[in-house]
Amino acid sequence: MAGKILIVDDVATNRIVLKVKLASACYNVIQANDGLSAIKMAHEELPDLILLDIMMPGLDGIEVCKQLKADAYTAHIPIIMVTAHNDSDSKLNALLAGADEFLSKPLDELVLLARVRSLLRARDTIEELHLRDSTCRELGFAEPQEAFKKDPVIALVASSKKQAAHWKHNLAQHLSSPILIVPKEDVLSNGALTKTPDVFVIASELDAPNDGMHLLSELRSRSQTRHSAIVMILPEGHARQSATALDLGANDLLATDFDSKELALRLKTQARRKFQADKLRETVRDGLRLAVIDPLTGLFNRRYAMPHLKRIAQRAIVNDRHFAVMLLDLDRFKSINDSYGHAAGDIVLQDVSKRIKDNLRGVDLVARIGGEEFLVAMPDAQMNEARQTAERLCRVINETPISITEKQMNIDVSLSIGVATGGGKEYDINMLDSLIEAADAALYRAKSDGRNQVTVSEVAA
Ligand code: GH3
Ligand code: MG
Ligand code: MG
Repeated sequence: MAGKILIVDDVATNRIVLKVKLASACYNVIQANDGLSAIKMAHEELPDLILLDIMMPGLDGIEVCKQLKADAYTAHIPIIMVTAHNDSDSKLNALLAGADEFLSKPLDELVLLARVRSLLRARDTIEELHLRDSTCRELGFAEPQEAFKKDPVIALVASSKKQAAHWKHNLAQHLSSPILIVPKEDVLSNGALTKTPDVFVIASELDAPNDGMHLLSELRSRSQTRHSAIVMILPEGHARQSATALDLGANDLLATDFDSKELALRLKTQARRKFQADKLRETVRDGLRLAVIDPLTGLFNRRYAMPHLKRIAQRAIVNDRHFAVMLLDLDRFKSINDSYGHAAGDIVLQDVSKRIKDNLRGVDLVARIGGEEFLVAMPDAQMNEARQTAERLCRVINETPISITEKQMNIDVSLSIGVATGGGKEYDINMLDSLIEAADAALYRAKSDGRNQVTVSEVAA
């Protein structure tokens, strides 16, 4: 995961030291020696990350950070502020200016590189989601939802009850969010947490050294908590442990004697990022769902059905099994619309879809591929079985009229079906199109032979 990193420092030797560290990890390094040229370069080069010295003559690092974060064009670039001071005021100022991280000189190489990796990873996730989101929107699905403000649920996992109570008391002065104290043994037990916390704060040493780290990697691997933010609290000066925590997926780190105002600020940043990613994930999921589901009937649409049918065929070849394809078309549906109205026609389509679905196996694919046309694909089915199934479908549609309750009407409906089968290990996947044509030809015959019946393909497709 190499990337382009902009180093901003007025002292040449500082830049060189950083450049050597980063270049050895294969990052592409660019440099600026004052605030103004840093802003210019950030715009021109759009680096993947910026290492920004705070103390510079002219425009200082804090001001540069504020300007870059206020500009929509550069706001997404992660910024690590670097300074010789390690006092809490400088840290808070940096974080308030929008910095993603604060490191003090001399920089520990291990921690620096782990931080860089972790920030780039977080940024990649967001970028990937943005990309998928815009693909969905280009296809015309799901507008992005409005950003909403909500309080994050914060869970504290401390080494003792006393420590947890202390953390909670101090944090509550800076945060309005619900803060849960979670005993370490409850963190991983299913059901102990009624709500999945948005942010975990975990002491790296609970009962034994590093057991907090196990908890961290366990939470990262579980689907329920995979997207929660995790802030680890580590003893001061454990560079290797810090680097490991970041690589295991910690979103942020703080030393044991942290300032609670700083923790509160970092928790807000983490929660904001998490909500942003959650929202994008949801939009993408909705977009994908809308892209493959027919809104009227809830069945899959053609876009989904065709590649899925191909997968069924491929599996049939590999397993030396057969599969069946049915094309179903409602009979004289136009006259149903004409006699009872389009709305009643829609209800008929919904009811028919449900009846088809209810009378097939879970593994069978049912899709609406046209106005009143459906496709059914049955894995592991021979012609005999497929024909019987198709005949059953004709029966369940025709046997009981569809009732439109609000109009107190009962509508007689029937269906014609064409069936074709393929498969076996000699089957050629390129035959799939002609198999669908064969089912279509069979459907046509079912229509011309009087409708409300099943016809099977005569050609071996
Ligand atoms: P055939 O037995 O030969 O299939 O006759 P048909 O009337 O069913 O066939 P045709 O293709 O002539 O008409 C299909 C009708 O389906 C025309 C169209 O108005 C209607 N239709 C297509 N989509 C929808 C829909 O979403 N809702 C409703 N209510 N009607 C639809
Ligand atoms: Mg029809
Ligand atoms: Mg038709």
